[in-house]
Amino acid sequence: MTLHRDLVERLLSRTDPSALLPARRSGEAARIELPFTLVFCARLDESRVDLWYVIVRDARGVSYGVPCVASGEALRRAHPGDGAAEALLSRVVESDAGLIEPPFSVIRWHAERCAGERGFEVDQTNELVVVGERAVVKWLLHPTSQEQPAPRRLAALADAGFTGTPRPWGLVSIKEADADVLIATVIAYVADAKDGWEWAVGDVRSLALGETDEATALRSIPHIGRLVAEMHLAFAAGVRSIATDAEAEGWSIEAADDLREADLGAQWARLIEQELALIPGFAGSTIIDIHGDLHIGQVLRSSRDDGLSIIDFDGSPTRSPEQRLARQPPALDVAGMLASLDHVGRVVLHRTEGLDDGRRSRVHDWIAAAQRGFLDAYLCRLAEAGEESLLDARLVRPFQLQQECREFVYAARYLPHWRYAPEGALVALLGSEFERPSITMRERHET
Ligand code: ADP
Ligand code: MG
Repeated sequence: MTLHRDLVERLLSRTDPSALLPARRSGEAARIELPFTLVFCARLDESRVDLWYVIVRDARGVSYGVPCVASGEALRRAHPGDGAAEALLSRVVESDAGLIEPPFSVIRWHAERCAGERGFEVDQTNELVVVGERAVVKWLLHPTSQEQPAPRRLAALADAGFTGTPRPWGLVSIKEADADVLIATVIAYVADAKDGWEWAVGDVRSLALGETDEATALRSIPHIGRLVAEMHLAFAAGVRSIATDAEAEGWSIEAADDLREADLGAQWARLIEQELALIPGFAGSTIIDIHGDLHIGQVLRSSRDDGLSIIDFDGSPTRSPEQRLARQPPALDVAGMLASLDHVGRVVLHRTEGLDDGRRSRVHDWIAAAQRGFLDAYLCRLAEAGEESLLDARLVRPFQLQQECREFVYAARYLPHWRYAPEGALVALLGSEFERPSITMRERHET
């Protein structure tokens, strides 16, 4: 082990940091502060001397999990085809036979031997690799010893028999300084599926351009409402409790922080503040495990039969580990989905050439109908189960406003032009007569 460590440390010292990041995250290399400390290293496959899993920490204390290959005198991140994801999957398969070797540990629901790796041409925070067209290995970009939301949530959904998510196969952790660190999740691959930023935007664009009718462009929405309700019912079958004053106070503080960071114009800020001020009064709401980062992009739709599944139970990457792990009111997921249905419309309005007023109004009508349709179907499914009280409806609007603030923060940090989406959404939520955020006014004058 020490010999291995010495070798990997030597290779690491000669490695360019960008070589350790997934290709679509290479921009992050500029933020890395050297030197790297080697936190963990182990062979992914005992029969392969060149294939490693390492965790490195940079001078800021940020950890990166890297399946990697020793190549020449340095390390580089494994590419699909190098066999790292296959090797990880083998560990999940072997765990059943008790063959799993420390420092790796596995929670396993299902596994099959699969061969052949390919990457995913879609937006992703972590790195996803499809193995044998059967499984998706998600390598967590920033593994940490803090407890993660996905294991508990996937287990709760599996226990409750919820089938609206791709079948979970397994979770792989390593032991580091006596703590379990989750490094990868493996779930079934859904063939021919697109996520909602593709399929829903496609539906609404076709509607705007007169290629489909409104019923067709709305066809999946009630199914999403029912599916989200079923997911919440499954979570509620596990642990549920009542939010304390301190918890409601915590939501309120977090929402106020988001509002401050969003840096909106004074009038909008004041209006939002008034609504967020209601949040501390919502102690007593039911809290359960929720998805935690629910939006249309987390809903896959199969092109074969329109079947839907909800993915990605890692929680929002922008929330603190404590917030991601905490039980929350289902209204937070509902608000996230409502906000994203609005954003689907905004994307179409912003990125489609040649939309006249008539076409634009189809999009606005779709947003309103989709939000109503989602909520109706959601509430209807809860009512069928006699669980209407799971949703504290008073919380939906403040959480939706908070979500829009978070979108401004996201835009400021990562994607400046995205501001058009929360701007449009806030106009709809607060009324168009109110001022735009000051920075945007300035930008407008400049352009
Ligand atoms: P991340 O949290 O790293 O962004 P996600 O779990 O949200 O990763 O997945 C990123 C994208 O990969 C999804 O939006 C979807 O397009 C695709 N994807 C993820 N899991 C599957 C799956 N099981 N089957 C098919 N596509 C998937
Ligand atoms: Mg996602």
